Amino acid sequence: MRVLITGGAGFIGSHLSEALLDEGHQVQVLDNLSTGSIDNIAHLKGRTGFEYFIDSVNNEPLLAELIDRSDVVFHLAAAVGVKLIVEQPVYTIETNVHGTEVVLKHANKKKKLVIIASTSEVYGKSDDVPFREDSDLVMGPTPKHRWAYACSKAIDEFLALAYWKERKLPIIIVRFFNTVGPRQTGQYGMVIPNFVRQALAGEPITVFGDGTQRRAFTHVADVVGALLKLIVEPKAVGQVINVGNTQETSILALAEQVRTLTGSKSPIKLIPYDQAYESGFEDMPRRVPSLAKIEGLIGYRPRHTLDDILEQVIDYFRRK
Ligand code: UDP
Repeated sequence: MRVLITGGAGFIGSHLSEALLDEGHQVQVLDNLSTGSIDNIAHLKGRTGFEYFIDSVNNEPLLAELIDRSDVVFHLAAAVGVKLIVEQPVYTIETNVHGTEVVLKHANKKKKLVIIASTSEVYGKSDDVPFREDSDLVMGPTPKHRWAYACSKAIDEFLALAYWKERKLPIIIVRFFNTVGPRQTGQYGMVIPNFVRQALAGEPITVFGDGTQRRAFTHVADVVGALLKLIVEPKAVGQVINVGNTQETSILALAEQVRTLTGSKSPIKLIPYDQAYESGFEDMPRRVPSLAKIEGLIGYRPRHTLDDILEQVIDYFRRK
């Protein structure tokens, strides 16, 4: 297959590019390096079937041409990371909504399969755990910018589903749950790369809130494995699908685990949310996916434990 990955120089996109090339597919990456990095794809340059274009999805003539040449489009280009989202709400909304609009519009011309990367953020502050794809989405008020990210991704989902329903454009929506692993940067807020970097540097490990909030982290290799199977599963078309892991941890326990695994003497420091993000910031106390749907579709079971993930991320930061 010939595949286009928007945001292909990002953390998930670069791992996906590599896996597709390993399977013998041709990969075109379109990335404006806003949060992605050329370092993420440097090792792919020169591999047979790999091409990359440093440009934005807003360059519609280029986007249209690349989609035309592809059999499948992974639309991963987006504003990501809670810190970035809170600090740059205009950029977040415009990037997420407009990018998906143009990708779907051009893919629709020749009915190319589009995989839309969505997020567990869309479940918002629902406490109906584990989150099922047909669960209600519970958003906070509009002055709290975090919810703009959730809403912009929900609009992407509505639009993709509308294209499928009304115009028969094949789409698959994947909701990623706290995807982590080597190459992820802590620059935009993500917790694991931040904790690991802090622990290795002997700096305080910054736990936001009281640390009782819980998450279930997914290794990027499990996510990529799922994506490769979903694009060849006809029953996935037109569906919204959670991709995650159900092994939960509290953020305080995560900080302690990182400190133990790195052998660090860093203190753990609790930082109130309004200092970490913005006044009145709302976090979700618990986020866990239901994996029943994806297991039924492709037999998905995440293989990597949190220990595995942390060891690999620690090793990555040490080598870096
Ligand atoms: N977090 C933290 N310290 C950090 C970064 C994040 O305690 O340096 C917390 C954050 O408040 C959230 C959890 O870790 O409760 C996961 O944060 P992340 O931004 O990785 O993903 P989220 O689940 O918020 O989308």
